[in-house]
Amino acid sequence: MQTNYQQIIDDITSELETLDNPGRVASYIPELAGVDANKLGVHLMTVGGNRYSWGNSEEKFSIQSVSKVLSLTFALQVMGENLWTRVGVEPSGTAFNSLVQLEYEQGFPRNPLINAGAIVVCDALITQLANPKKDILNFVREISGHKKIDYCPRVFESEKRTGFKNYSLANLCKGFGNLNNDVDTVLDVYFHLCSIEMTCSELAQTFLFLANEGKCPVTEKQVVSSQRARRINSIMQMCGFYDEAGEFAFRVGLPGKSGVGGGIAAVHPGKYSIAVWSPKLNEKGNSYQGIKVLEAVTTRTQSSIF
Ligand code: GLN
Repeated sequence: MQTNYQQIIDDITSELETLDNPGRVASYIPELAGVDANKLGVHLMTVGGNRYSWGNSEEKFSIQSVSKVLSLTFALQVMGENLWTRVGVEPSGTAFNSLVQLEYEQGFPRNPLINAGAIVVCDALITQLANPKKDILNFVREISGHKKIDYCPRVFESEKRTGFKNYSLANLCKGFGNLNNDVDTVLDVYFHLCSIEMTCSELAQTFLFLANEGKCPVTEKQVVSSQRARRINSIMQMCGFYDEAGEFAFRVGLPGKSGVGGGIAAVHPGKYSIAVWSPKLNEKGNSYQGIKVLEAVTTRTQSSIF
């Protein structure tokens, strides 16, 4: 029987409207603090190309750390398995911007989806690419099938001014010999990466290759091999929600990635990708309502991967 995704999403979102949303919008990046806390967008896209939307799904938002999956994908394409000499694939069990573990482990970040890991991935890309910022953006435009996707200069500037913990993480990696380029050069690329803006429908389409054995069914591009898609999904499953990765696996049961802009992208291999945006975050820095929506979607469609 065909799953009625639209009806299910409509039901979930109208039930949510009657419930409390106790999260808080990220304020440590001042530009994000001004975002309307009541936004809620959902977009689900099947590998067969069917689309289901709800709410503010066509409004751009700052995808923030969701972009770390895209920088990882690009770095694997550019330098292959050598990337794993610079960063691990283990869940961190610590906050996305934690410093302690990085010191214990001598500047070798646990995985590419925490800030330290993504900073090292940016460093690796800078070493390999002629125009890293342009090349990263072109890669994202290509895999998303949307030529107009762009960095947001206001979010970039805002984060550059206030990204003190990211400067610490980058300096620690540099001090341990795991950063080849200057800290400022690396963070310039990293802050740009975090500032990418997309709508829920663009984000769901961008992640669809991970639900479809590495090939985007819309652009018909084989972005990565099916084996690599499985590996990226495994990293999202274990590491995509920092110290809430277990809870997300338990409640939602999909590989996914969150960002402090309130976005989450998740995939069900063989079935669909889904993007949710709700700016209020829980204490772990993940979208409070975003997780609620995804939990209800996989529960009602019985489509956790487990
Ligand atoms: N740009 C944010 C930062 O570096 C990304 C964090 C996130 O989305 N979890 O702090």
